[in-house]
Amino acid sequence: MKPKQDKKDKRLNRLYSQDNRDNAGRKTDLRRRKWRRFLRLIRALFATILIIWVIKTLIFSIGDRRQGHNASDDVPSSPQTETNPFTVVLDSGHGGYDVGTEGVSGRYEKDLVLKIALLTRDALMEKSVQAGLDLLVWMTRDDDRFISDIDHERAKMVRAHGGDIVISIHANSFVDPRVSGTETYYYDATSLPLAHIMQQALVRATGFNDRGVRQANFYMLKETGMPAVLLELGYVTNEAEETKLWDKTVQKKIAEAIAEGVLEYISRENEEGGEALSP
Ligand SMILES: [Zn+2]
Repeated sequence: MKPKQDKKDKRLNRLYSQDNRDNAGRKTDLRRRKWRRFLRLIRALFATILIIWVIKTLIFSIGDRRQGHNASDDVPSSPQTETNPFTVVLDSGHGGYDVGTEGVSGRYEKDLVLKIALLTRDALMEKSVQAGLDLLVWMTRDDDRFISDIDHERAKMVRAHGGDIVISIHANSFVDPRVSGTETYYYDATSLPLAHIMQQALVRATGFNDRGVRQANFYMLKETGMPAVLLELGYVTNEAEETKLWDKTVQKKIAEAIAEGVLEYISRENEEGGEALSP
């Protein structure tokens, strides 16, 4: 009986170890499946986070803009009062991660034009008070915020707010560093008088090369619903001009020139029988 018993034991052992191997295989399979499930979960989680982030960014960029501009204390809003103030919309180009063009020194257009726009706002307020004009300034941005080009958001903001004229402030760039000077862009005939006044005022103030008044179909010139000009103050790819553009004295001169240009435009409009401005 003993040998038989041994045989039976061996067979049982074999079966047992076979079973163990099967179990081990199943466990590895299970582990693999679990791992795959875990990876799928991680992927889904990342996708969800990405989608939420994109939606949040979109909502915030819109919300920020609205809130920022309405809540801003130093920028007067323009409620339509009985005196019907003349509203100047100042638009500093670019902003946020849209840095605009990069100058010789590595500084960005978005920072330069914001500085000049803020100085222009101050100059406009000061000069309009001196002239006894009821004038308001509204800015598309008064800080380093991003405004999307998608759907021409900037023009939509201006149109939604309303105003009498819009002045978009930019600085230019070109591959040839020798190119320098000021250009003023307009689109339709109603904007041409303002464009001429601005170009002359800027060139007079800075002594930069007069590159003239030019027509362009930029959406900021076409879609704001009011006379609109876009100023290319100078070329930041020209070393001398960039240095001047970043000079505080020159920046103040530019701001004052734009402000004086606006006042000149208003007085000409009045002479031509336009809407009278109440002091
Ligand atoms: Zn620009």
